Amino acid sequence: MNILGIEGTAWNLSCAIVDEKQVISEVESSYQPVKGGIHPREAAQHHASEIKGVIVGALSNAKENGVPKESLSAVSFSQGPGMGPCLRTVATAARALSLSLKIPLVGVNHCIAHVEVGRWNQNVKDPVVLYTSGANSQVLSLRDKKYRIFGETMDIGIGNALDKFGRYAGLKHPGGPKIEKLARQAKKYVPLPYVVKGMDLSFSGLTTAAKDALKTNSLEDVCYGFQETAFAMLVEVTERALAHLEKDEVLLVGGVGANSRLKDMLKTMCDERGAKFFAPDNRFMKDNASMIAYTGLLMFKKGITTPISESFVRPDYRPDNVCILWV
Ligand code: AMP
Ligand code: MG
Repeated sequence: MNILGIEGTAWNLSCAIVDEKQVISEVESSYQPVKGGIHPREAAQHHASEIKGVIVGALSNAKENGVPKESLSAVSFSQGPGMGPCLRTVATAARALSLSLKIPLVGVNHCIAHVEVGRWNQNVKDPVVLYTSGANSQVLSLRDKKYRIFGETMDIGIGNALDKFGRYAGLKHPGGPKIEKLARQAKKYVPLPYVVKGMDLSFSGLTTAAKDALKTNSLEDVCYGFQETAFAMLVEVTERALAHLEKDEVLLVGGVGANSRLKDMLKTMCDERGAKFFAPDNRFMKDNASMIAYTGLLMFKKGITTPISESFVRPDYRPDNVCILWV
C-alpha cells in the first residue's frame, strides 16, 4: 500500500510517499524567517508558493522509483496542531489532490505522527515518549487505545524557549542547534529556575531568567545552564512516567531530540533504571512528511478516512483526542 503525506504545520513544508516498509520519496522546502521567529502568515505564504513544486517533485521521484500516482491509496495531511494559516494552506492542497486523484483523505495528528515514525524507525513497541519540538513538550504513552499525556509544558515548548532566548542573544532562528554548540564551550554552570509542578513543566520563567543572566555571564555559560536545567526537567518527568507506568522503553521524538546532550541525559537515566533508550534518525526527528504519510497508512489500513466536510484544520488538536486503533 502506498500513501502520500503532506506536512506543513510550521516551518517545514514537505510531501512524502511511503509504503509499509520504506520512504519511497520525500521532497521538502523549509521556511526560514528573514528576521525574528516564525511568522504564521509569512510561513503560510511560503507554503502556498512552494507546495505545488513539493508535491509534483515527490510524485515524480516516486514515479522514477516505480510508484506512479495511480498506485496511491490515500492522501494524508497534518490536520493539527500547528499554525492556523499554515495548516489551512496544506489542508487546501490535500483536499484538491484527494479530489483530483479520486482517493480518500486522511487527517493526521502531527504529534502522533512524530511518535509513530519514531516507533517505526527504531522498531519500538510500547515506549514512554518524550516529544520535544518547537511548540510542544509532552510525555506520552499508550494506555487503553490512546496516547495519554502524562506531563506537558504549561506555557511554551522547549524549542520555542531555546529559540526565544537565542533570538534575544542575537542568534538567528532556529537558536536550538546554535545553543547546543555554544554550551559545549562553557566554563561554568549558571543556575536558572527549575520549574516542574507535579508532572508538568514551565519554560517561560527560565527563558526570562536566562536573558537576565546574560548581563553578568558569558553566552556560552548561560547556554550551558539553560540546557542543563531545561533538559533535567524533561528527564525528571519522563523518568517518573516510566516508573509509574512500569514500562522499560523510552523514545525521544521532535526537533529538539536532535540535541546530543538531551540524548545523553535520557540515556543515563534509562541505563540507571534498566530501560532501553531509542532516538530515531534526525530526518524523522524533526518535522517531516514521511511521518504524516506513515501514520496516514496506519490509519487507512484500519479504515479511518476523513470526509472533506470534516477536514477542517485543528490548530489545538491534542494527541489524546485520537483513538489509536492500529496498535
Ligand atoms: P520541530 O518543530 O519538531 O521540527 O522542531 C523544531 C525545533 O527544534 C526548533 O525549536 C529548533 O530550535 C529545535 N532544534 C533543532 N535542532 C536542535 C538541537 N540540536 N538542539 C536543540 N534544539 C534543536
Ligand atoms: Mg513537530
